[in-house]
Amino acid sequence: MKFQRLRLSGFKSFVDSTELRIERGLTGVVGPNGCGKSNLLEAIRWTMGESSARSLRGGGMEDVIFAGTTARPARDFAEVTLTLDNRARTAPVGLNEDDVLEVTRRIERGAGSAYRMNGRDVRAKDVGLLFADAATGAHSPALVSQGRIGAVIAAKPAERRAMLEEAAGIAGLHVRRKDAEQK
Ligand code: ATP
Ligand code: MG
Repeated sequence: MKFQRLRLSGFKSFVDSTELRIERGLTGVVGPNGCGKSNLLEAIRWTMGESSARSLRGGGMEDVIFAGTTARPARDFAEVTLTLDNRARTAPVGLNEDDVLEVTRRIERGAGSAYRMNGRDVRAKDVGLLFADAATGAHSPALVSQGRIGAVIAAKPAERRAMLEEAAGIAGLHVRRKDAEQK
C-alpha cells in the first residue's frame, strides 16, 4: 500500500489547508525545531485510526485541533485525508473500483471524530482493518516516532510481541478474532 498524498486542515499547527504529495522513493521533511515535522507523521497515524491522544502528545483527542495563537483564533475542527494508491486493488470490496482510496478522518469540538473512505461514511473499525491487513496500522513499526526507539528497548514482553505481530502482518487476524468472539 503506497501513500500518495496527505491533506490537512486545522490539524495541530497546520491551520490552513496544506497538501503534501508523497512521490516514489524517499521523502524528506526538513525544517527548524517546532515547525511541525512530527505533526505530519502524527496526522498520518491519526488518520489511520490512532485512538490514544497521549501517543499524539495530547491530553485529549480534541488537542489535535488547531488551538489558536495570538494572531489566529482556534479552529473548531480538524480534518486529514490520506490518499492511497489502489492500483494493486488492495482496498476492501465495495471501495475497490478506483485507482485511489481516500481515507478521511475529521474531528469536531464536542462531537468526536468520524471517518470516510472515498467519501462514504465508515466505522473506525473499517479503517482499522484496512490498515491492519496491510501491516501498516497506526501502531505499525513502519512509523517510528521521536523517542520510540527508547520505548522499544524498554517495552514489556507482551508489548514487544504486539510490535512483532504488526511487523509480521498478522495484527488484522487478531482484530477479526476478537470481533468473532464477541458475536
Ligand atoms: P522538532 O524538530 O523539535 O522535532 P517538529 O518539527 O517535529 O520539531 P512538531 O513537534 O511537529 O515540530 O510541532 C510542534 C509545534 O506544533 C509546536 O509549535 C506546537 O505549539 C504546535 N502545535 C501542536 N499542537 C497544536 C495545536 N493543537 N494547535 C496549534 N499548534 C499546535
Ligand atoms: Mg519532531
